[in-house]
Amino acid sequence: MITIKSILSLLLSALIGISGWFGMTGDKATGETEYKTYKNVILMIGDGMGFNTLEATKKLKNVDLVMETMPVLSQSETRSLTNKVTDSAAGGTALACGVRTYNGAIGVYAFNPFANKWQYPISLSEYAIEQGKVAGVITTDETSGATPASFSAHAIARGEEKNISYDQMSSDLTLIWGCASESVTEEKCAENGFDYFTTATEMEALEEGSRSFGQFSWEDIAAVKSDYDTPYLADMTEKAIDLLDDDEDGFFLMVEGAHIDKFSHDNNFDGSTSHTVEFDKAIEVALEFAAQDGETLVVVTADHETGGITYDAENDEYYYTSGSHTGVNVPVFVSAADAGFIDGKAYKNCEISVQLARVMGAKEEDFPRIKL
Ligand SMILES: [Zn+2]
Repeated sequence: MITIKSILSLLLSALIGISGWFGMTGDKATGETEYKTYKNVILMIGDGMGFNTLEATKKLKNVDLVMETMPVLSQSETRSLTNKVTDSAAGGTALACGVRTYNGAIGVYAFNPFANKWQYPISLSEYAIEQGKVAGVITTDETSGATPASFSAHAIARGEEKNISYDQMSSDLTLIWGCASESVTEEKCAENGFDYFTTATEMEALEEGSRSFGQFSWEDIAAVKSDYDTPYLADMTEKAIDLLDDDEDGFFLMVEGAHIDKFSHDNNFDGSTSHTVEFDKAIEVALEFAAQDGETLVVVTADHETGGITYDAENDEYYYTSGSHTGVNVPVFVSAADAGFIDGKAYKNCEISVQLARVMGAKEEDFPRIKL
């Protein structure tokens, strides 16, 4: 028999189902109830860095990777709300805002037909700043690239470079550094109190208490050059920590190694593994700081794998099977066993940022949350 009650409950479950699909309901944290809170969190994202990227790097560059010494190794399931294979925008948004969204989205939920609008989830940077901490984003990509943008801007499409750069230049972050983006201007940066700079020398001269917007040479960073006045990612990481670590409430820092992905798209092992080594050097800097500081959690992961790297045992060789992103799980290395991440467990990508917010003290209602 059809009763009003049954119609109502049907409607309600349909609503919950639809709102879930549109990413409007929060994803649970890792499920661990016992975990320590940390004053500082450093999230490091190797764009396109899968398990076999690490294996190929060790073999081809004949190195050990510092990230593999971290005590906890979990996994991230990287899909987006709309696609089995994510792009860096939806992947970055999941890692920044604790929600899965559509490919191409920068820090926005999927369109909400009930509110008839786009709604923005707050990012870990915004959450940290709300808590009185300071926040920074550093990358080897352009500053308006999808990954750094997810932690410092909101836009309905990753191609909205102008809007993304404008958001970043108007943001409350303490530092945003990466390769030069078209719409970033010294004048607009200065309006919001950012010191605009372009070289490693200027970066090293930055003083504590300053806010800064770094715009480096793409060619130098892509080529990992040492003879130009452009910083390596490890130097950027060291200086960024040095500038952020005086805040008594702590800091949140996102560090991205972007060219692992870019060279993997070209199936260029030399480039992708060189940049994995560069990224690993930055991780070493972060771990050294965390070890002496004692109040800092470092998490290393990727937004997705790129290139479908496979191992052929017969020829003892790694090779690419794709020129784009794949849907395989990627590593999540955690610097401490008491941060709520379970060794060996696979998490949804969005659960990682939810747990990082928890580690910074967030209650369930605090994160993920719509930005008002
Ligand atoms: Zn890519």
